[in-house]
Formats: sequence, structure tokens, C-alpha cells
Amino acid sequence: MILLNPGPVTLSERVRRALAGPDMCHREPEFAALQGEIRARLLGVYALAPAEWSAVLLTGSGTAAVEAMIATLMAPGEKLLVIENGAYGERMSRIAAAHGIDAPRLSFAWGEPVDPGAVERALEQDAAIRRVAVVHHETTTGRLNDLGAVGAVCRARDVGLLVDGVSSFGAEALSPERDGVTAIAATANKCLHGAPGVCFVIVRRAELAGEHPPRSLYLDLRAYAEEQDRGGTPFTQAVPAFYGLAEALRELADEGGWQARRSRYRELAGAVAAGLEASDLRALLPEAASSCVLRAWHLPPGMDYAALHDGLKARGFVIYAGQGTLAQRIFRISTMGAIVRSDIDRFLTAFREVLEEHGVT
Ligand SMILES: *Cc1c(COP(=O)(O)O)cnc(C)c1O
Repeated sequence: MILLNPGPVTLSERVRRALAGPDMCHREPEFAALQGEIRARLLGVYALAPAEWSAVLLTGSGTAAVEAMIATLMAPGEKLLVIENGAYGERMSRIAAAHGIDAPRLSFAWGEPVDPGAVERALEQDAAIRRVAVVHHETTTGRLNDLGAVGAVCRARDVGLLVDGVSSFGAEALSPERDGVTAIAATANKCLHGAPGVCFVIVRRAELAGEHPPRSLYLDLRAYAEEQDRGGTPFTQAVPAFYGLAEALRELADEGGWQARRSRYRELAGAVAAGLEASDLRALLPEAASSCVLRAWHLPPGMDYAALHDGLKARGFVIYAGQGTLAQRIFRISTMGAIVRSDIDRFLTAFREVLEEHGVT
């Protein structure tokens, strides 16, 4: 099966083999070495200095990392401005609400760009807002939000920036230093090509110094960071997923890092676009507004998502539905994972077959 959904991704043989590594106790030095390698390699992806930044590993899916970031870094009484232009921005508002954090929203319609001027006005109007939360790649629609523009507004007012980079880390450009990023949350099983089970937050070390009591016991980044700096872990970690992530990070480095991955995703996404456009399909967003990771497409006229999905799945390809009100209108194709050009060519053939089978021309 070839997975064209936005994670978990199709694994390389190399990563799949690594998952079955030896049994290991998380209180032994060999675990400390594995964890240390992953933490160093994660910082290395965007050349972040270990003296300034900490990569904190958690067992859980990407949402655990986003929740840990928000719950740990918001001090009592501070407000968080949450930027929404898709389901994942809205999820951050729900996370803030679950932790009793006062989090005004700056909402744009799904798929619309974030207006940095509106962010600036929101910060001007409320000095209690100490941090802004934004999704880098809004997987809901495939839109790549402009972190540089939002970061510049935040920096000018000395406001922190919390980034959901779950579906961009490892494949899109990120400049956390330039953009004044406080922390970025991501996961093993999207652009990094690891298996589900481990997620992480990369955070400025200085930001972990706060003294307010944790809002969550299990998702307290400070406790993880302190223990991990000593080679330990507060709780049992998903050891096989750690093996997978370590191997996936070695593979990323061997292949030329995030830049090479972005080129590959772009090439595959371009082949998908050429094939779908040749069948008269229309993309939801222009290419220039889209990530290299995923694009959303209008469903072929007269065809519902289930018919398209099932026809493709029977031919070995998993695509992804739209969320919320987009569910009836779009489908999504991600080019993450260990897939190659010939997989895309076979996918496009299968796609044409399914259209023909349903009489869509
Ligand atoms: C996938 C994703 C998440 C996390 O989803 P999980 O199912 O918890 O891994 C969060 N934000 C974005 C932008 C995502 O694409």
C-alpha cells in the first residue's frame, strides 16, 4: 500500500528494519545514547545550537507535542493569540481552552492567508498577549503560512511565537533564530519519515527556566528536558519508535537534509499536479500558496470522496479526505514518505481508471 495521506507515511525498508531493534530498557545507558543521538540530529536538521535550543522527546502523536508546548510555555495570567486558518489552528485554541489559558483567536477562513497586519493590530490592542501560536503548514488545505511575516510582527513587540510545525519540519524552510521562534512542535511520522509514536518540541533553553507549576504532569516539557539532559526520561518512551526516528534522521542526512527532501516532494507534487490537471481537476489553492508536502484538490464533478477513495485503495493507494465543510468538496494528496516517481505514475494511471469506471471524463 502506498500512503498518500499526510502521515503516517510509507516507510523506507531501512527505517522499517530499524523498528525491530533489540529490546531495550529506558533506564540503561544504551537508551541514553539513542535518545541523545536523536536530540542532536533533530537540532542539526535546521542547524540550531545545542547551547541555545533543546529538542525534547515525548511519546505520543503530533498533538501531544503541540499540547505540551502550549501547556508548558504559557505562564499563569499570560494570554496566547491563536491564529486560525484551518483545523489545526482551531485545535490549538481547543488545547488552550482545555488548560484554562486565555487565548483570543485571530480567525481567517480555511485556506485564506494570514494577514500579518491583523496580527499586529491584535497585539497592539491587548498588551496581555505574550505569545502567538501559528501553524506553519496548515494541512487542512495545504497552505504554507508565512512564518517570517508573523515572526517579524512578534519580534517587533517582543512577543513569543509558538509554532505547530508538525507537517513541515524536515521538508520546508525554517529559520527559528531569524523568526524569533520560541518553540516548534513536530512529530516523527510526517516529513521526517519515522514511525508514529514519538513527537518532539524544539524550544529555546531560556524559555524552560520559568518557575510556574506545570499545567500537566505528563506533558510537562520542563521535566522531560531536565531528565533528557541527564540522559534519562521521566516516563517509559516508545523505544521502537525511537529506533525508527534515529534511522529516519540518519537517512535524511544521507539524502541531503531538508533541502533535498523539499526538492523531492516538489518534484513528486509537480507530477501529481500535471497528471490531475490533465484530467481537468482543479487545485484548491494556487501552487505558490501551497506547501511542498500536500495539496488539496476539488473532487471530480459528480463523484463523491468515498467512491474515489475506495477505487484508489483497491488499486493500492490511500488518499485523504477533506475535513469539516471541505469533506464534501475536496480530497488531499501528500507526497511525503518513501515514495518515488514510479509510484506517482502508477497512482495517476489508477486515478484515470477510477474516473473511467465512474463515467467521469
Ligand atoms: C498531523 C498534524 C498534527 C497532529 O496530528 P496527530 O494525529 O496528533 O499526529 C498537528 N498539526 C498539523 C498541522 C498536522 O498536520
